[in-house]
Amino acid sequence: MGGQRTCPMARQGLARYATTTADAASRATWDVVVIGAGPAGSLAARELARDGRRVLLVDRNTFPRDKVCGCCLSGAALNALDAAGLGSLADACGARPLRSLRLTAGNRSADLALGKSVSLSRARLDTELVGAAIHGGADFLDNTRAIVGSRTQDECEIELKTGSDRTTVTARIVLVAGGLGARAFAEPDERQTAVGSRIGAGVVLPGTHRNFSDGVIHMLCHRSGYVGMVLLEDGRLDIAAALDGLAVKRAGGIAPLVCSILQDSKCPLPADMETAEWHGTTKLTQYRAALYGNRYFVVGDAAGYVEPFTGEGIGWAMTTGRSVVPYVIKALQEGTECAGPWWEKRHRELLGQRMRMCRLISGALRYPKFVTAAVGLLSFMPGLAKPFINAIDASLQRDDKLPRRELRGGDEQDAARFHDQAAW
Ligand SMILES: Cc1cc2nc3c(=O)[nH]c(=O)nc-3n(C[C@H](O)[C@H](O)[C@H](O)COP(=O)(O)OP(=O)(O)OC[C@H]3O[C@@H](n4cnc5c(N)ncnc54)[C@H](O)[C@@H]3O)c2cc1C
Repeated sequence: MGGQRTCPMARQGLARYATTTADAASRATWDVVVIGAGPAGSLAARELARDGRRVLLVDRNTFPRDKVCGCCLSGAALNALDAAGLGSLADACGARPLRSLRLTAGNRSADLALGKSVSLSRARLDTELVGAAIHGGADFLDNTRAIVGSRTQDECEIELKTGSDRTTVTARIVLVAGGLGARAFAEPDERQTAVGSRIGAGVVLPGTHRNFSDGVIHMLCHRSGYVGMVLLEDGRLDIAAALDGLAVKRAGGIAPLVCSILQDSKCPLPADMETAEWHGTTKLTQYRAALYGNRYFVVGDAAGYVEPFTGEGIGWAMTTGRSVVPYVIKALQEGTECAGPWWEKRHRELLGQRMRMCRLISGALRYPKFVTAAVGLLSFMPGLAKPFINAIDASLQRDDKLPRRELRGGDEQDAARFHDQAAW
């Protein structure tokens, strides 16, 4: 295992593809089982498999699948793909370059120039990343829910549920990358939700949408939340929103509330929007105190998330998915107790500041008068937004080396490799 394979998805287009069955998986011994094939899980699975580890990537959904997301890849997300050697992926998928963000609040609008960023459907992006993981040597099993069960000093049991069938696989380490609100543990989860957090909602509308310009993110800010709209690579319109839960109840559902936000913002209603099948999420701003435990690590949204106004989550997920790899490798050798605290520290270094900035912005968005005034100011002086946009586009991965003491106790050669990988 761990050798590179031809990617069947690249050959066959976006067909469902699993490389193993739950039965076959239960007879194998896995170094790492990765729960969740979003950007975090797939990139981690790929890197670990490329390092020669025996990796099983599991997702409860059948691929390809859409998910609630604004589908905008920021400069940081594109840099993360580039750093993984997948820099041509977005272009190869026909991702649409994004030129500007049209911000609307009340009767004010501002057009802000964007740096390098693109729109790409999650169905396409995530399926390609799964393909990259398979190509790197990982096995993939979709339509299967994975739940972390009992853990000993050396290994961990994971229950796989496909329909009514249940099997158990064993791994030395589990990587929990199940996204926001994922249920990946048999025991009650330790996540905390921020007070007043909004919920997410989204839909992808087929058809032609002439009222929405190519290359523009349309973002409507409203007292009940905010709604982002963007054309995808295949001409569909992605709508994603962060909404006040109480306002959703009062409006009688997600679709009526989003329609009323569009109407209040004088934005034309896209065809079929009211009748489309909307998907909701749990509360968006969540934290997890511990990012590791006996035999497991947590990455991506599962490790913590802040409301998505700045559209950075995919970049965060890909960066943490890759960055956790050296810690997993160290844990395979010496256990999670040794590598886990360093992973928590690294995670804070990578995302702490960005999450704080997002919290500040999401807090400010609760004040409609302030937001309308700010958008009014930006309509005259769009350059004021430049530092924020540059910050969102900047690569998350720093070049600085990890402190030498992180490597204590490891074999000299492994330590050197661990050090090099951690300093991508
Ligand atoms: C409204 C909204 C708009 C957003 N807009 C943007 C944007 O424009 N740009 C951006 O960069 N980010 C955006 N984000 C954030 C982005 O969607 C997430 O940050 C990103 O998808 C996180 O990736 P992940 O790999 O951690 O998890 P996910 O992408 O959520 O993937 C997790 C996977 O785990 C699977 N899973 C969960 N539990 C289990 C289980 N027990 N067993 C097996 N599989 C399981 C799920 O099926 C899923 O496929 C937005 C989010 C929301 C809610």
